Amino acid sequence: MSESCTYQELRSHLAYLRLSAAAEALPGELDHARTNDLGHSEFLARLLEIEVAATESRRRAGLERFASLPSPWRLSDFDFSAQPSVDKKLVDELGTLRFLDDATNVLLIGPPGVGKTMLAVGLARASIDAGYRTYYTTAADLVARCHRAALEGRWATTMRFFAGPRLLVIDEVGYLPLQSEAAAALFQVITQRYLKSSIVMTTNLGVSSWGKIFDDPMVAAAMLDRLLHRSVVFNIDGESYRMRSHRARSEALRKGVTPATQQ
Ligand code: ADP
Ligand code: MG
Repeated sequence: MSESCTYQELRSHLAYLRLSAAAEALPGELDHARTNDLGHSEFLARLLEIEVAATESRRRAGLERFASLPSPWRLSDFDFSAQPSVDKKLVDELGTLRFLDDATNVLLIGPPGVGKTMLAVGLARASIDAGYRTYYTTAADLVARCHRAALEGRWATTMRFFAGPRLLVIDEVGYLPLQSEAAAALFQVITQRYLKSSIVMTTNLGVSSWGKIFDDPMVAAAMLDRLLHRSVVFNIDGESYRMRSHRARSEALRKGVTPATQQ
C-alpha cells in the first residue's frame, strides 16, 4: 500500500474513533517523527498524549460548565485577616478535599457579606480542580426546580440529579421561608445524600433558629440531624466585608487620604 493510502486510512481510523485531536496533529507529528528519527512507539506515545490532553481539557470544561459556579473565587482569594472568626487551618484542611471521602458536610453560618458564598464557591472550585463532579445551587433555585419537576412528572429524575454530584453546594438557606413542599424537597435531597456524599450549605440563620425557616419544626430538626451528624460548622461573625471596605474608603476620604483600592 502506498504511503499516501496508509496515511488516508490512518486519518479515517482516527476520525471513526473520534480521536480528532490526534487526527489533526497527525501530519505534524509524522513530520516531527521523520525529522527526529523517532521510533514507532515514541511517535505513537506523542500522538496519543495529544489526544489524552484534549480529552482531559474537554472533561474539565464539561465539569466547569455543569458546576454553574456564580463566580471564579478560589479559597486562596479569601482574606483570613479580615475574618478572624474563620479558622484558616480548618479551611486549608477542607481544601485538601479529604472531607469528601467520608461524606462530611460543611455548614457556613453567618450574616450577609461575611464570605459564606466565597468559601462555599472556593471549596467547589477545589473539587472541580480535583476532577470531581460538583454542583452549585441556591436553596431558592433548588426548591423551584423541584417544584417544576413535581408538576412535570420528573421528580425522581430531579432527585437523582441532586444525588449525583460528588459535592453539592446549597447556598442561601434561610433567606426565604420554605413552605412544606419546598421543605420536603430540600429534606429529600439532604436525606438521599446523607452518609454518601457531601453538602456545603450556607445559611444566615443559626442552627437554633432553623425552626423559623420551615413550617414544620420536626422537618427542620430531622434535616439538621442528618446535616450535622458528620459535619464541620463555621460560625462566622463580624461585619460584612463589603461594609468594611466601604467604611475604610469613607474614612480615608474623610481624612483626605487616597484609599487603597479594595473590592
Ligand atoms: P455572604 O455569602 O456571606 O453574604 P459573600 O461570600 O458573597 O458573602 O461575600 C460578599 C463580598 O465580600 C464578595 O464580593 C466577597 O468576595 C467579599 N468577601 C467577603 N469576605 C471576604 C474575605 N474574607 N476576603 C475577601 N473577600 C471577601
Ligand atoms: Mg452569599
